[in-house]
Amino acid sequence: MNDHRKIGRELSLFDTDPLIGAGLPYWLPDGAAVRHTLEEYIREAERRAGYRHVYSPVLGKRELYEVSGHWSHYSDDMFPPMDVGGEQLVLRPSLCPHHALMYRRRAHSYRELPLRIAEIGGMHRSELSGVLGGLTRVRAIQLNDAHIFCTLDQVAEEARAALAMIGRAYEALGVVPVRHRLSLAGSGGKYVGSPEMWSRAAALLTEALDAAGLDYEAVEGEAAFYGPKIDVQVADAAGRESTLSTVQVDFHQPEQFGLEYVGADGAKHRPVMVHRSIVGSVERAVAHLIEQHGGAFPAWLAPVQLVLQPLTEAEVPYAQALLDQCLDQGLRAEVAHPADGTLGARIRAARLAPYQAVIGPRESAAGAVALRLRDGRRPEPMPAAEVLARIASVVGARSTELWDEQA
Ligand SMILES: [Zn+2]
Repeated sequence: MNDHRKIGRELSLFDTDPLIGAGLPYWLPDGAAVRHTLEEYIREAERRAGYRHVYSPVLGKRELYEVSGHWSHYSDDMFPPMDVGGEQLVLRPSLCPHHALMYRRRAHSYRELPLRIAEIGGMHRSELSGVLGGLTRVRAIQLNDAHIFCTLDQVAEEARAALAMIGRAYEALGVVPVRHRLSLAGSGGKYVGSPEMWSRAAALLTEALDAAGLDYEAVEGEAAFYGPKIDVQVADAAGRESTLSTVQVDFHQPEQFGLEYVGADGAKHRPVMVHRSIVGSVERAVAHLIEQHGGAFPAWLAPVQLVLQPLTEAEVPYAQALLDQCLDQGLRAEVAHPADGTLGARIRAARLAPYQAVIGPRESAAGAVALRLRDGRRPEPMPAAEVLARIASVVGARSTELWDEQA
């Protein structure tokens, strides 16, 4: 069974140390390469879809969360405040209030809407130590979050576009959702706002799901405290479901923070906030990718994409020269040194790398390599420059296929 905690340790992707603390994993170079590549993909997808990126601090004053409603509805999941010079600062439980204040810093015209801001930013959750583990139950989270400030008329289309972005990302990542869930309020006092607000927000999300042609299940009691949401559900190796991506409609925070835009009529109006996350937290996303692929990531995400395998010391200089070419082309590559074992042992040790290039005296003399794909295919030896160009093309296309036979 693909348990990301076991694979993560075996492949040296991430780990924890009791002196740092439970639920506070650190990322080792191979895990950091996967995470960095994922984050780059997200930022590029957002940039293409008209989002602008921001940075905001991981701390905020207690009052900020009293205004947002987190303090009264979400404080069980928050760390206790820190007293600093007579002020109370808290580790933020979400990025939304910071983004709402960024919107509020100046006046906006309806012509600027939808205004989309995105951030991959830190937040914290005060999970109990008994449940902490791996990358899925952590106390420090990097959230892929974005907020779209828009008019009521624009909500359904923005939510539909967010669902389409999520679909494209899943295709590139090789992730298959198990279902889409429309998460509604349940009973109890956990939720803010009027019943009309909730039913209107749910209707907009339903419109977006229908426009995207997605089947979904409506479930009560799974909404955020401030509004209903679409949850994209995935399953782990044991079949346990969790939420990877979300699209939410929020009338509450714009109200709480007094957000406005000037309409075509010259009057002030309240925008709606659409919250959306393509991969949720980076930690949970990478945990899922590790389990989904058993550590054999698609080539574009792999920590090491190409392992150069010189047969003997005599071919090492040629392998080193090829390594430089790989790095210049943006590929992640390394040389497996003959001193580290027989060719067979080195190839087995690197079996999760999508590509291995064996270099014997013949290849070295001819400027060629004998390529081995992770799936067992062995294309005819070909010039090294052609191999690198073809790998770079698969990686650049973020394909889940290893090799394009037609190229
Ligand atoms: Zn948000």
